[in-house]
Amino acid sequence: MSSSISALQALLAQPKQIVITTHHKPDADALGSSLAWAGYLKQQGHHVTVVTPSDYPAFLNWMEGNDEVVVYDKRQNDRQVRDLIARAEVICCLDFSCLGRINELGEYIRQASATKVLVDHHQEPEDFADITFSVPTAAATAELIFEIIRDLGHQDLITKGMGEALYAGIMTDTGSFRHPSTSRNVHLIIAELLKVNIDLSSVHRRIYDSHSEIRLRFLGFVLKDKLVVNREFNTAYIAITQDELRQYQSKTGDTEGLVNYALSIEGILFAAVFIDRGVAVKISFRSVGSFSVSDFSRKHFDGGGHHNASGGISYLPLDATVDRFLSILPEYKEQLTGVPAAVAPPVA
Ligand code: 5GP
Ligand code: MN
Repeated sequence: MSSSISALQALLAQPKQIVITTHHKPDADALGSSLAWAGYLKQQGHHVTVVTPSDYPAFLNWMEGNDEVVVYDKRQNDRQVRDLIARAEVICCLDFSCLGRINELGEYIRQASATKVLVDHHQEPEDFADITFSVPTAAATAELIFEIIRDLGHQDLITKGMGEALYAGIMTDTGSFRHPSTSRNVHLIIAELLKVNIDLSSVHRRIYDSHSEIRLRFLGFVLKDKLVVNREFNTAYIAITQDELRQYQSKTGDTEGLVNYALSIEGILFAAVFIDRGVAVKISFRSVGSFSVSDFSRKHFDGGGHHNASGGISYLPLDATVDRFLSILPEYKEQLTGVPAAVAPPVA
């Protein structure tokens, strides 16, 4: 048993006040791993609250425990959430690697006296937790939560509801079992989850086939009018203005997955989606193969993530952000095309 598991076991030996939190705009892995972990800890007699730093897409609302999630809102419940965090004996941080990713909650947690536990699979974790499970090779945080529960000797406590939340996290973070992170271990875990009769088709439908009509029309508009393919650098990108988001009544989650369409074009190795959120431009990057979008976003857009999936931010206007992005591409010509960048002639 690893030393982190022993430390966790000792920490959880008596009932505790526990807060679980996850990253801004939680996705299925963030919420699924948090709710499954909460389900386990509650069965162990702990008092558990899941707090998210922002709202999340409605297509995740079905998960067991969703109704008890506290969604942080600076204007609505700042005091309540601050108190929760200050009173917690244990704070579990799931599916993010640095406190800067969770807005105001990051500082509250940094200052909290609780024992902090980090469970995550992003690259370059910040060193803020007392007990750290950081496995960048893992496909999903949900995979790690399964393993932690199993290694604590309690796989039998995983219910169908917890199993479906974990399945949702693994399914989405592996791109429905197609990314290279989809290891043998991932499939073995799914086989274990099937023992509690998780309903694979139903989870898939609830997540991928629950669009509103206007969301599908938004997708049509984006693919027809907004997708730009740059063959010079095997790159495709999409930039969406605030007006366009308003026109299609965009809700949290509606822009999720757009970047994968850009990457699905034959020969495209690098895809980006720029969304004008008003306060900033939020960016998603994806790649296939050896080009590291994690390094790219860390270096140029104050971001990070995984080798083939990352995100970043820009405080320039949308057009200027895209111009800046295009001006950086020549630096990566060799990685993106195999052709070395032109060398400037020596200065005489
Ligand atoms: P997405 O494009 O789906 O929002 O994010 C892709 C991956 O990059 C996710 O694992 C996400 O946690 C990470 N990510 C997204 N935005 C940021 C960011 O601004 N900073 C960092 N460090 N990671 C990000
Ligand atoms: Mn994840």
